[in-house]
This record gives sequence, C-alpha cells and structure tokens, in this order.
Amino acid sequence: MKEAIFPGSFDPFTLGHLNVLDSALMLFDKVTIAIGKNSTKKGLFDINERLEIINESIAHLKAQGKKIEVCVYEGMTAELCKQTNINFLVRGLRVSSDFEFENVIAQANQKINPNVSTIFIPASGEYAFISSTVVRDVLNSGGDAKIFMAPGVDIKKYFNQKTVHKHD
Ligand code: ADP
Repeated sequence: MKEAIFPGSFDPFTLGHLNVLDSALMLFDKVTIAIGKNSTKKGLFDINERLEIINESIAHLKAQGKKIEVCVYEGMTAELCKQTNINFLVRGLRVSSDFEFENVIAQANQKINPNVSTIFIPASGEYAFISSTVVRDVLNSGGDAKIFMAPGVDIKKYFNQKTVHKHD
C-alpha cells in the first residue's frame, strides 16, 4: 500500500488543504494528516478543535471509502516518518515563494532521514489564495470564513465557542 503523510499546522484545515488532500489521494492509497504540535506557537484553535474540524472536513471522503488517518505529533517530521515507516511527505504549493521555503525543509528532512521524499502538490487556481492565516484574520475581524472551509464546517461556531470560553 502506497502511503503518505500530509503534515501541517492546520490552524484551521481549509478548502485549500482539502484540495491538496484530494490530489494526494489520487497518488497514494492512504494519507495520514499529521497535525504538528508546536509548543512555542499556540495558534488560534487548540489541538482538539483542529482534529474536530479536520474530521468534519474529511467525513465525505471517508464515507467514500478513502483511507485517511489523522494524528498529532510533536518534534521532527522526519522522525515521524521513521516511527510510522511512511516515507512520503505531501506539501502544497500556493505561490512560487512557497517552493523556495518548502524545498529547504524537504532537503533538511531528507538529510535527517534519507528515506524521506517530499511530493509537492500545486494549489488549484481557485484555492491558491486560501490559507489558515486568511481564515484566522477574517474571524478575528468579525467576519465569517465559511467560504474558505470544507462544506459543512461551521467555523464561526468553533470561533464563537472560543470567545465565550475566553470571557467565562
Ligand atoms: P505549516 O504551518 O506547516 O505550513 P499549514 O497548515 O499552513 O502548515 O499548511 C500545510 C500544508 O498545506 C503546506 O504545505 C501548505 O503549503 C499547504 N497549503 C495550505 N493552504 C494551501 C492552499 N490553499 N493550496 C495549496 N496548499 C496549501
């Protein structure tokens, strides 16, 4: 079985991520979405919320029988590859500057674990402008970022829950 890991912050998982995942599932039999836990970067959504949003975003693909797993990891991605024995990483590219940045990381990962190769998947034009940062900015400015999310994900609900908790 051909397997890949799709690592990222996914804060939150967007339509852009879903687009990359769709393409990855055409290349690989199984894709593991790995949420990188970064102790120095807290992010907007906590890990459980990110997991929930991803599970809502991919429910339709799982219902179609696609093999997708979601996990959380800390530390080096190359190390995760070693532990899981999965040697392909999938990363999305939006603009050309993404490649400059991603290629350095891909080379570093290969140096750490020579079995690891990174497969770059370019964003489809209509999704190229979507990023987690845009979603967070829209939410923080009081807007609804629903159009940037997978169908059925009510991101405003997640965000409002957070705001309510903050003032508890
Ligand atoms: P990270 O903080 O590790 O970059 P992200 O969650 O921001 O994590 O992104 C994870 C991966 O998804 C990255 O490879 C990123 O380039 C890709 N990605 C994010 N949004 C898009 C998009 N709209 N189109 C294509 N790839 C995307």
